[in-house]
Amino acid sequence: MALETEKRFRLLTLDELTSKVQEYLPDADVSLLRKAYYFSHEAHCSQKRIEGTPYIDHPLSVASMLADMHLDLTSIIAGLLHDTVEDTETNLKDIEELFGSDVAFIVGALTKLSRMQFRTQEEAQAENFRKMFLAMAEDIRVILIKFADRLHNMRTLEHLPPKKQKRIAQETLEIYAPLANRLGIGWMRAEFEDLSFKYLNPDMYKNLLKKVARRREEQEGYINEVAQQVRNKLSEHGIPAEVTGRVKHLYGIYRKMQIQKIPFDQVYDVLGLRIITDTKIHCYEILGLIHSMWRPIPGRFKDYIALPKSNMYQSLHTSVVGPKGERVEFQIRTHDMHRIAEEGIAAHWMYKEGGRVLEKDARYIRWLRELIHSQKELKDAREFLEMVKGEVTPEVVYVFTPRGEIKELPAGSTPVDFAYSIHTEVGHRCIGARVNGRIVSLRYQLQSGDSVEIITSPSHGPSRDWLNFVVTQRARTRIKQWIRGEERKQSLELGYRLLETEMRKKGLSPNIIKSDEMEEIAKSFSLKSTEDLLVSIGYGKVSVHQVIHKFIPEEKEEEIVPIRKRGKEVEAKGIKIKGIDNILYHTARCCYPIPGDNLIGFVTRGKGVTIHRSDCPNLGRIAVDDARLVDVDWVIDENKTAQARLYVETVDKPGVLASLSALMSSMDVNISHLEANTTHDRRAHLTFIVEVKDKDQLNTLKNKIASTEGVLNVKR
Ligand code: MN
Repeated sequence: MALETEKRFRLLTLDELTSKVQEYLPDADVSLLRKAYYFSHEAHCSQKRIEGTPYIDHPLSVASMLADMHLDLTSIIAGLLHDTVEDTETNLKDIEELFGSDVAFIVGALTKLSRMQFRTQEEAQAENFRKMFLAMAEDIRVILIKFADRLHNMRTLEHLPPKKQKRIAQETLEIYAPLANRLGIGWMRAEFEDLSFKYLNPDMYKNLLKKVARRREEQEGYINEVAQQVRNKLSEHGIPAEVTGRVKHLYGIYRKMQIQKIPFDQVYDVLGLRIITDTKIHCYEILGLIHSMWRPIPGRFKDYIALPKSNMYQSLHTSVVGPKGERVEFQIRTHDMHRIAEEGIAAHWMYKEGGRVLEKDARYIRWLRELIHSQKELKDAREFLEMVKGEVTPEVVYVFTPRGEIKELPAGSTPVDFAYSIHTEVGHRCIGARVNGRIVSLRYQLQSGDSVEIITSPSHGPSRDWLNFVVTQRARTRIKQWIRGEERKQSLELGYRLLETEMRKKGLSPNIIKSDEMEEIAKSFSLKSTEDLLVSIGYGKVSVHQVIHKFIPEEKEEEIVPIRKRGKEVEAKGIKIKGIDNILYHTARCCYPIPGDNLIGFVTRGKGVTIHRSDCPNLGRIAVDDARLVDVDWVIDENKTAQARLYVETVDKPGVLASLSALMSSMDVNISHLEANTTHDRRAHLTFIVEVKDKDQLNTLKNKIASTEGVLNVKR
């Protein structure tokens, strides 16, 4: 930690930056660098950093970080100038004239980036994200400079007010760290995470800092001893290698404790050893030697050399029971692999002429391109974030298409992932798969070497259930998009039906639904169009009555009170009752009896017989005179239905109502009336009057509703 403090407070000088650059770019045009420094100095001369230091310290620190990353002169200059257009009078034209179009492009892109704020929460900022990624794909230096800028700001975050600290730290943890991880820049990711951690969870941070220091004190001697034994062994075998101790970064420890739900004492890889050698072959030889010295712990060996992570990380990991029975974790890699692990895309970048990454070099680029491509369709920034944060999958499987082409998929991929990797339509229409000639379930986990053939059906669509087992982000995104589209379609239909029925009831012509007047009404609900209004009705966000009220404003409360309080009896529909002929009867609206229920009849004064369920609580209150009760029973008529009422409590989320109505129509159950009310605690109370054949069908329906996602409770 002492090191970090030094880094933070030592003000750099231009001469230091110059000599740093000259070390790895001996032919660099130093005069241009100096010019950029003075230009930036001049532009920022009236500004101070919040900590009171001259502003130039910030661009100088950023440029110096870029020099540490061995980036080219254009990047260093752009780093020096990165805030000039944003904060001062300077314009891009001046920059282009003085420093060339590349520098101007990068500074321009950085300016655009700093003008937008990432929302880490609800609101979609997809377009802004897309811009950022387009800039990044155009010239990866933009993002590297942006990272350096953010890192310096994070290192000096203590000077900002606490609220701002938290916001910036949160954004860094949610966006910058995963992105750095994706791009393989290990050291930046670790520093982003630790600095964010420090501000977001200061107590835990301090606590872990102390614990790690103590662990270090206890174990350093031991680790050094193990390291020495390894060094001796390796020189015995003539294998060149550096053996060094490594400490896991704090946030990494914290996350491990969280994910595995273990206390600090059970995190065994806080301290470990890293062995860096010259060739891949030597990596495996070293592994063999270590395993011959100490017993490896089963399940802890990972070969990321043969199966690199998708951010191109390569290394051998193993844990052994070292001397005195203590666990020791090893990472074994070549110098090249080490550089990639630390610097990621930057390592690839710096050796390329002209600054563009060669495609064959980097999976990052493929990942980036896929991300940008999917961004065109993604409307939701949260989904984008999920995609960035998605696991950097450790392992891959290689499978074959029927034509013998090889596909690389993350381990755990299923035929559905495979189908979506071929084409979105293949994914949507997938109904089954043949692996090596045999039919397998869609949940089957593909193995390397499998030959996979997808069976499709043109009328088929994805199911929500697939989300439980697909592993690729691509499949996940496409399935969600499809489901969302379907839910919208269903809600649109349902909304139309509900509105149409209610309008007819009120003597309004359903043609109005297509009129301009309806468009206006939609707008009065802050919706874009009638279609959106109908969808909202279908989702249960807007009630039919709210819409009807726009036409019949005087309409009394009567229509919106819950049904059970309205008229007590209606003419019975679709049932016959044994033993009573030519008598007017009704089923009671307090209990909605249906075939299969035990019944009792109540003879009313002048209105015939009302049929109640025999356990109807209402009956107990009204039937004081036993003489007025008559025995009744059902005569089942297969072709008739009876009305039943269901109260359903759900979470207040779009789509729940649509999936319930889809469920009912799949069971051939008609909805004859629907009321939806939302509560303050974000729940929805739905009252359905449905037409069912009998109690069995109603019970089946009840069970299915109860197991529908988002449903909290269902009762008659
Ligand atoms: Mn800046």
